[in-house]
Order: sequence, then C-alpha cells, then structure tokens
Amino acid sequence: MRRRAPALLLAAFAVALGEGSPRADWLPQVPAPLAPHPDSIADYTLRATLDPAAHTIRGEGSVRFTNRSEKPVSELWVHLYLNAFKNERSVFLREPIGAFRGSSRPASWGTIDVRRFAFEGKDLWPQAEKSRPGDDDETDVRVPLPRAIAPGEQVELAMEWDDHLPSIVERTGFSGSFHFAGQWFPKLAKLEKDGTFTHFPFHHLAEFYADYGTYDVTVDVPEAFRIGATGPVKESKVQGGRRIERHVQTDVHDFAFTAWDRFEVRDERIDGVAVHALYPRGYEAVLERELETLRFALPHFRERYGPYPYDVLTVVHPPNDGAGEAGGMEYPTLITTGGPWYTPRAVGTIEQITIHEFGHQYFYGLLATNELAWPFLDEGLNSYAESESLAAWKGDASGGALLGLAVSDVAVQAVVSHDAQHDEAVAKPASEFLTGRDYGRLVYARTATILETLARTYGKVSMDRAMGRYARAFRFQHPEPRDFLGCIEAEMGKGAAENARRALFEKGWVDYSIGGLSRGPRTTAAGVFDQGGKRETRPPGAGSGYDGTLSLMRRGTLQLPVDVRITYEDGQSETLHFAGDAESARLDFTHARRPRSIEVDPEHRVLLDGDRSNNVFGEPGSFRKTMDHTSFWVETLLGGVLP
Ligand SMILES: [Zn+2]
Repeated sequence: MRRRAPALLLAAFAVALGEGSPRADWLPQVPAPLAPHPDSIADYTLRATLDPAAHTIRGEGSVRFTNRSEKPVSELWVHLYLNAFKNERSVFLREPIGAFRGSSRPASWGTIDVRRFAFEGKDLWPQAEKSRPGDDDETDVRVPLPRAIAPGEQVELAMEWDDHLPSIVERTGFSGSFHFAGQWFPKLAKLEKDGTFTHFPFHHLAEFYADYGTYDVTVDVPEAFRIGATGPVKESKVQGGRRIERHVQTDVHDFAFTAWDRFEVRDERIDGVAVHALYPRGYEAVLERELETLRFALPHFRERYGPYPYDVLTVVHPPNDGAGEAGGMEYPTLITTGGPWYTPRAVGTIEQITIHEFGHQYFYGLLATNELAWPFLDEGLNSYAESESLAAWKGDASGGALLGLAVSDVAVQAVVSHDAQHDEAVAKPASEFLTGRDYGRLVYARTATILETLARTYGKVSMDRAMGRYARAFRFQHPEPRDFLGCIEAEMGKGAAENARRALFEKGWVDYSIGGLSRGPRTTAAGVFDQGGKRETRPPGAGSGYDGTLSLMRRGTLQLPVDVRITYEDGQSETLHFAGDAESARLDFTHARRPRSIEVDPEHRVLLDGDRSNNVFGEPGSFRKTMDHTSFWVETLLGGVLP
C-alpha cells in the first residue's frame, strides 16, 4: 500500500536539492534457486453478485481447506475484514493513527454478514465466536469444529454471505457507481506448521497474511459494467442484462475485484504478461505513464527478483474525484494506481505509485510475509525496490524534476525518515507504532534508507544479490526477518548483516564527525642515527612538505565503513578509509602542500549519517559544495512540512 505522504508537496520543496546518487550497475544474474510452487492450503470457489445501486455483494461458494500442518486442527479462524467499517468499536476505527493512509471513518458503513458456514452438512456459524469477551470488534471469528481435521486431510466448507460495501475507505468500497471489493469474503486465517492459526483483527496500520491457494471466482455485475479482478478471465458471457466473468488464478493468497460502468480499457503485452488497464476517460496521459513505468519495471524486477509467474497484471486507475482512496493498493495480479489526470510529468508520483504497487507483486504477493508482525519486510523492502528501480530508470531525477532541478526517490526517503530515527524501532509489529506518521517514516522510508546505505557502503551488486537471493529462495515461503538477514549475511558479509540488524531492530544510528586536525611542515627526526655502518647526527630542521593527523569520531551503534577525502592546496586529493569498527580513529597523511578541505563520506554513501554538517573541515567553498548535495540534512528546509 502506498503511504499518504504529501509527495507532491515534498517534491516541490525538495527541488532545491541536487543529488549525486550512483546510477545502478547492471546486475549479474543471481544464482539463487527459485522456490517451487506452494502446496495449496485454502482453495476458494466463489460467486459474487454485485448490486451497484444498493452497493451490496451477495456471496456464495466454498473453501477447500487442506490441513498441511503437523497437528490435527479442531477450530478454524475466519477473517471478516469488511466489519472493520461496521462501527466505531472495531479495532480498525478505535486505533488513533491520524491521517496516515487517508481518512478512516467511512461516510457510509460497511458490513459482512455470514448466513451459512457449513461443514459436512452442518452450519457451524451459530456456534462461532464472533468476537472476544469485552471487545466488540467483529473482524476475527473463531469457528469450533465438530471433529478434528487430521494432518493431510482435505475438507470443504460451504459459505453464503452478504456484503454491504462502505463508501471508499482503506482501498475498498464504492463511490457513485465505482466499486472496489477488497476483503469482501469470509477468509481463512493463516495456518501454521504447528496446527495453530495466525489470526488478527483488521488493524489500521497492518495489512494481511494468508495461505496460498487457487481462487476460482465468478463475478456477476450489470452488463454496462466492466470488471477488473485477480487472475485471467476463463469464461465470460452476457446474459439477461448481466455481465458474468469467471476468473481463475493459482498460487495466490487473496482475490479482489472492481466494477464500474465508466471504465476505459487498454490492453498491452509487456515482457510476456498481459497487462489489462482500466481507467477513467480523460486519464489517457497518466495511463500512458503507468504503462511506460511497467515496460521498465517488469523486466527489471524479473532480472532482480525472479520472473513474475502469472499471465496477467490488471492495473486499475480509480477516478480521482471521490474514489481516490481506492488508489495505491496491491492485490495478487491486480494493482491500483492513482492521482489526478493533470499530474504534471515533472512530479514523479504517477511513476512512483505504479512501480511501488507493482513491486508489491513480489514483496507481498510472492513473499507473503506476516504484514502485522513485520511490516518492514513488506512495505520497507518494497520501498527500497521502488527507489532502486526508479534510480535505475530515471537516474538522479527518480523522484521528479522541477525547474531543472532533480531529486531522487531515495533522497526523499532519507529526508523523510531522518527525524524519526530515534523514535521507535523499524522492525516491530504494525499495531505497536505510536503514530501513523512514525509508521510511515520508519517502516517505509527508514528501511529504504538503511538498505540504500548498505548498498552504497558494501556494494550495489552484493545488495542486489542479497535481495535477489531472498526474493527467489523464499518465494511462496512466508519468510521472516531472520531469512532476510541471512541473505544479507550470505551475500554481503557478517558486518553488513549486523549493521542491518541493529538499524532495523535496535534504532541503530550513526554520526561521523571530524574531531580535529593537526598539521605542520614535515620535519626530519633529529638525533644520532646508525645507518649503513656509519653514525650520523642529524640536527633539528624542517623537511619539505606537510604531515597531518585527522581525528575522526563515529558516534552511534552502526559500524559502517566510510571514506575521507582530503583536498590539498595544489588541487590534488586523496581518499583515506575508515573501517568504522572503532569509535574513533586517527588518520595520518603526508603531502607536498597543506590540506585545503576535508570531507567525511564525500560520495554520500552513508545516507543514515545523522548530521552531515560536522563532516566537513576547511574553507567555506567545500561546505557550499556539500550543500548542493541532497544528503546534507535539510531539516531547516523541510522540517516543518513533512507528514
Ligand atoms: Zn506499499
């Protein structure tokens, strides 16, 4: 999901910053094996009949559940996430998170009512535990079973239910005749190996977690409506004034659809994938930019993170007036973009949203991490993938370009996350963040900045390999943080992995500063010296050139290596290296002329450096040069306007 940062505002303020980010090197093929197809646990066969005037969906069908755990299962957990919008007592509406991800209370409530949930002919719903004692939330339901389901056993549950869609909230609902149905059916929670379910109510800052399976869904809407949905169309017909489409997709963990009677359609084959775009009339220019983005993104992500394994990708641009809240969201094989039709090219938000949501096909769709427990594995890694791909495509102007000045996407992430670095840890459950503002700055932007810093300090190719190994080896495997850190260690070494762990889990930070500089004319050592069988007494006296010692300090808990550039009065320069493993270092240098300026991290590799103003020593000219680079902290410029 896209964060609701005022990207446009940010771009407008950030134009004063140039940026010297290195252009991505082309990646060598990553040899890590691609994980095999997952074993289905939850296969759904559903039918959804939409009444767009009443904004209701009549649902029926079944879920085939296979107990692939090692233990008998004696209860099921079912998520009814549309009930997050039922009343103000839901967990979703109780959590105070501010305006992150847009408004939260729908103008028109949403509900899901299960009419039947039957196992071996018996309706289990009357005995279901619809909420916890003392808690009115109705999004997480426990269904006791009349008998245990043995390991390896497959059973079928018949379902009938009624949805009342809310006015668009959190990417689902209606606006006029536009309908977007996400989290619209009774959905089994995630079965774990030990026979328990990982289940949770719909939290405001968290998203989803589910098992893979096949979704065979028939969507039934009035004839005038066009449908966009997860998976390819297997059957399509118009009958009795209704349009009926059957979509079937294997190896996915959710199913969403949209229907509107004013969609324009455009189809294009990109990198072997049938891209099906749905958009409002008048949005042709922004749609073209979205397709342009995908023409770059599909092969780029394929090379880095393995092939996109599905035949179709549906791109939905919701109408900006009223349904803008449906934009910026990911479902398997379906993404929603967003933004007004007049979004100027100079503002890169159209490309950014498109590449971000497409990236989720990997960092959500194919990796399927627990988005409540570890949101950084989903939004954070995806924000890095977004920055990486935009930089590879657009170079320095990856975040947009206005008035001839470029700003990179990763520079925006670095600036956005800077103020929150000491507030809370990045790697923790979504529901534990104090504010949506911290969640956005840390989970999205700080993670991206951490990974970009590792790429710049330990090498872009090794970072690409670590990400590629993770995305391939853990495809369909629901990985956890240790799996990701293991890939960092395997490809980048123990030091990089330890820095990543501290930065993600322990609010790790770093600030380099120049402590002092002693320098003077080089002197020849005086005294009595025995050399070559002769004794020589050397008087005190000046030699030629200058000796100097630079005291360098590293504050904070991250031990990142860093370069120091010394520029001398004769225009020559030399680069010294500090491994970063000590809290301070003395670096000696010798040159024919005096140093004119010294700069720690002149290439701006350590985007995490908490204060760059103490990195420079020397004449004002070099200080101004630093100001020209984005990485010089611009709190003074941006501090008051960020989300
Ligand atoms: Zn996202």
